[in-house]
This record gives sequence, structure tokens and C-alpha cells, in this order.
Amino acid sequence: MKRIAIDMDEVIADTLTTHVEWYNRDYQDELKLSELEGITLLQARPDVRSAIESYYEREDFFRNIKVMEHSQEVLRELSEHYEIYITTAAMEVPASFRAKYEWLLEHFDFLNEMNFVFCGDKSIIRADYLVDDNVKQLRAFKGQGILFTAPRNVHEIDYVRVNNWLEARAWFMAQLHQDQQQREEQNEEQNKECCAVVEEG
Ligand SMILES: [Mg+2]
Repeated sequence: MKRIAIDMDEVIADTLTTHVEWYNRDYQDELKLSELEGITLLQARPDVRSAIESYYEREDFFRNIKVMEHSQEVLRELSEHYEIYITTAAMEVPASFRAKYEWLLEHFDFLNEMNFVFCGDKSIIRADYLVDDNVKQLRAFKGQGILFTAPRNVHEIDYVRVNNWLEARAWFMAQLHQDQQQREEQNEEQNKECCAVVEEG
């Protein structure tokens, strides 16, 4: 089975939506996700940096993040054909460790918890594919990178892009089909070679 490494924030966890909702609620702002195209939340509101960053210190924030639409059903299906690993750059926010772990156990209980990888630099990850919204991580990754659309990366053009989990499912199932075809072709080639050797003999 081929191996897929999957990022957490902005890929299976809709961290940004939750962050904007909590920030708007607590600071009476009306920031919209559509205002964040090509930029980060901090870049959109640099004057309230500490307010925005304060959520990273809160376990209840990470524990209550919404699940990205369709990620559960699609990962459940893909896990029948691929080895699935969740790889999150949790070192960026050490306070999030426990909450992220509990969140994964609650929402992705069909995955093996031994496949949860809390790391920093993802160049250390050995997998065939990495699904991530962060171009920096994709650039360092040695396998095939798949860019998962998030507001800040909408202008990136260097990677295979999936806009949501339904598109990701279609892409990985097509890949599976292609791999299968390749294997069949190779087998056919080998059979031909065997026959030729037998005939020669
Ligand atoms: Mg991410």
C-alpha cells in the first residue's frame, strides 16, 4: 500500500474558520474568510497580534476546532487503499499537543493512533504523498506534494491542487487506478519476456 501523510490544520481541521469565529466573537470584529486570500490572519490584523496569537495558548480552542467537511468519510474510504498518517507541525504550538491528540482520537477514531505524527519540519516524513496547505512543507517534502486549498495559498500554482476532500478522493482513487494499470502492464511485459525465453530455449 502506498502511504499518504496528511496535515491537520486547514486540511482535516478547519482551524482558520474556528479562529476567525472566536476572534470575531471575542473582539467584536467582522473579519471574513474571503478577506484572507493570499494572506494569513496575522497579516490581515497586524494591530491585534497578541489577541490573535492568544488562542494558540488555549487547549479549549484546539479541542473545539471544526472538522473539515467530508474529511472523515473520505479518509475512512482512502484508508482501505492507502496507509494514512496524520502529520502535524505541532512543534509550532507545543500547548496544542494534548488537545490535538484528543481531537484526533474523537474525530478520526478509525485511524491507528500510532500513525499520528507530531513533528516540526516535515522533510523528515517518508511517505508517497503529503497533503498540506503549507507550500513551505510541500517544498521540503521528498514525495509527491498535494496542495490543499486554504485562503492563504489560493495564488500558488506550483503544485497539484485539491480544493476539498471530494476532489482529494477523486485524485487518489484515480491514482490508484493508474497504479493498478501500470502493474498490469508490467506483468504483461514480464509474461511476454518469459514466453520469449521459453520459445528461444
Ligand atoms: Mg496546515
